[in-house]
Amino acid sequence: MSKEMEEIGRIWFPFHGADTYVYSLFSNNKCLLIDSGNSEAPKKYILPSLRKNGIEPNNIKFLINTHAHIDHSGGNFFIKKISGALIMAHELDVHWIEDHNEQFRDRFQPYKKFYLITKEMKKAYFKDIGREVKVDRVLKEGDVVNFGDYTLKVIHTPGHSPGSISLYDEDKKILFTSDAVQGRGPSHQTIPLPLYENVKDYLNTLDKLSKLNVQTLFTAHHFAPLNKSILNGAEIKQLLNVSKNIVKKIDIIVYEFLDKGPKNLGEVAKYLWIKMGGNWQTPLNPHLLRLARAHLNNLEEKGLIAKEKERWVREK
Ligand SMILES: [Zn+2]
Repeated sequence: MSKEMEEIGRIWFPFHGADTYVYSLFSNNKCLLIDSGNSEAPKKYILPSLRKNGIEPNNIKFLINTHAHIDHSGGNFFIKKISGALIMAHELDVHWIEDHNEQFRDRFQPYKKFYLITKEMKKAYFKDIGREVKVDRVLKEGDVVNFGDYTLKVIHTPGHSPGSISLYDEDKKILFTSDAVQGRGPSHQTIPLPLYENVKDYLNTLDKLSKLNVQTLFTAHHFAPLNKSILNGAEIKQLLNVSKNIVKKIDIIVYEFLDKGPKNLGEVAKYLWIKMGGNWQTPLNPHLLRLARAHLNNLEEKGLIAKEKERWVREK
């Protein structure tokens, strides 16, 4: 392992069955965190791990959220309270980090016709996302965060969420993509499905990242088929290629299904689920519905299908 790698801490925590990682960079006894986990992660996993490296809470100086999702920004309040760290996030995800009701509404309400949002689900969501706290520095494409001998360039990599970012150190050839590159999807799912909400953005992100000179890639979960969070050399190319191919595959599945006449979102999501290896008994979930919706929007933007009331049909 090179010296740089030793200075990068990888902190594991379980998030509803998913192996999830927060990364910590060290310099002169100070620490920069990449993501804060869910609300429980700082106390149970992040602080104990940092203490092993001789880092006390007041040594945490910076916290960069790669995006607003609950397993990445849910620990913000706790980290801020114990360290006063400067919190940074991309301009397009700031409103979700600062307003949890808005994040819940935007991400789950649009699909409530096709699955039941139970009280328990809502309760668990708001527990995981913790309390709200303001973002101190709003990031955008091309911004640079200097920390010790790290020069982290902010690369806007939307698709998974509108304000997803990757952090790139060109000299060290390291890249943190968090959830921006999904492969076939998070490995812990029985049937992995990539999670993105905008197909065009996601494909642009994959293209953008494949142009970078990267030796080591750090992700926030294990993604199929590589099933690991630190990737080197050829593995990086493989993950990017798999990611791209699955998008094309899903586009085709959705388009072909509409050959059978007009379909609503629930029907498309169900068909996609079966085609990916799932069974009819599994109830629809928001991730699947969001993915199906992303592809319907994409095909519609391309002029291949049209929306008529609540159904999509092929353009003649
Ligand atoms: Zn995410």
